[in-house]
Amino acid sequence: MNKETALVVFSGGQDSTTCLFWAMREFKKVYALSFIYGQKHRNEVELARHIADEAEVEFEVMDVSFIGKLGRNSLTDMSIPMDQEKPTDSFPNTFVPGRNLFFLSIAAVYAREKGINHIVTGVSQTDFSGYPDCRDAFIKSLNVTLNLAMDEQFVIHTPLMWIDKAQTWQLADELGVLELIRRETLTCYNGVQGDGCGHCPSCKLRKEGLDKYLEAKNKGIKL
Ligand code: ZN
Repeated sequence: MNKETALVVFSGGQDSTTCLFWAMREFKKVYALSFIYGQKHRNEVELARHIADEAEVEFEVMDVSFIGKLGRNSLTDMSIPMDQEKPTDSFPNTFVPGRNLFFLSIAAVYAREKGINHIVTGVSQTDFSGYPDCRDAFIKSLNVTLNLAMDEQFVIHTPLMWIDKAQTWQLADELGVLELIRRETLTCYNGVQGDGCGHCPSCKLRKEGLDKYLEAKNKGIKL
């Protein structure tokens, strides 16, 4: 196993792009792996490829479209209107059941083939949506499971696990890629690149975080 290499699960969104550049700081060689999972906005993958090319990172796409067909959710099913607010008793219908379970499992098999044992993912427990497969306990549990499944010593890194959106912008700035991430990533649920549509839950969260970070930065406060 090569401890100088990492594989980043990469969607071309704000979080995973921040993780890509974090990994480039922490490891000598970085690979990026994107997934087609039946998402409505397929240009996501092309944007991801573009960012990976700019970062001079090796990029691969896996087609796992079956995930979108398995569980009903508003990210892959055009007929389901997207929840604009987080329901009080559950998570929003943008939750794609099993997504990170499949992504990370496939990433681990792919990493093993390449002789990589460090896997990086941009999940965050502080994310307002509360998706269960973004929580620390799930990641730690899956890490153990993957090691047992393949008799390997994978290490799943989650640099964003305990930080909020404003701190994620701060990290991007520290990595020197705030403007790149602001301009080129796609986080918007309506598929609008950069600052996005401005009104979907994802755009609101992203903008609130950016405003909070820039305000703190102007006052010389570290978040
Ligand atoms: Zn939006």
